[in-house]
Amino acid sequence: MVKKLVDTHTHSSFSPDSRMKMAEAALRAHSLGLAGVTFTDHLDLKAPGDNLKFAFDPAEQQSEIYATAEKSPVRLFTGIEIGLQPCNLEEIKDFLSHFKFDTVIASVHFVDGVDPYEGEYYDHKSEKAAYGRYLEIMAEMVDAYPYFDILGHYDYIVRYAPYNVRSIQYHNFSDILDTIFRSLITGGKALEINTNTYRYRNGATPFLDLNILLRYRELGGELISLGSDAHSADRLGEEFDASCEMLKRCGFRYVVNFEERKPVFTTI
Ligand SMILES: [Zn+2]
Ligand SMILES: [Zn+2]
Repeated sequence: MVKKLVDTHTHSSFSPDSRMKMAEAALRAHSLGLAGVTFTDHLDLKAPGDNLKFAFDPAEQQSEIYATAEKSPVRLFTGIEIGLQPCNLEEIKDFLSHFKFDTVIASVHFVDGVDPYEGEYYDHKSEKAAYGRYLEIMAEMVDAYPYFDILGHYDYIVRYAPYNVRSIQYHNFSDILDTIFRSLITGGKALEINTNTYRYRNGATPFLDLNILLRYRELGGELISLGSDAHSADRLGEEFDASCEMLKRCGFRYVVNFEERKPVFTTI
């Protein structure tokens, strides 16, 4: 089943936290039976801490994608993952006005100027407060910056959380999730299943609450994308078969990838 699918969220060596070579990704994708790979490298302007520069030159990235695509056994697409914060929206808009991509993924990586990856974000916060604040920012960002195709890892905040329940459960955040879903549906944007989130970390394995998918569908949500968020070729297409089975159980019949910012549907 992995066969015909495109991995819509991956990081090449144009991301500072990845060393994945595009040619290596293309070969690996081919061996897995994937139809293609979208390289969505990081653009996190005004990142707190800023030890690594999470920005790249799209002209260089795209010329490498096109050159690699000439010899690639699978299709390769251009993309970017923009990290939205209230303080960087204008800057991102300006940056993107100079380039065209097949796919723009919008993500929230920082909450109130804090990187949850560092852990302190969760100090003195209940699980509901920590996850809830993340979703609030996401709802604000999706509303304030509608120039994207896929909402990246809506549950990123559970990845590094220290709590027993490592999941955004629909019943705890129904209002804010409905707001986000309605905004995506109205705007023709896709909700992403980011399989990198559901890996064992810090003593627990995060999980996806099926009620999230059921509610998204109930509200009229049809666009779902599958991304491994791979930073190395061995993780491409990870858990795509299981994710497709889960989606089918929730009533979805296809997933999408984007070409020149337009959704392309693949039956699952
Ligand atoms: Zn991300
Ligand atoms: Zn990513």
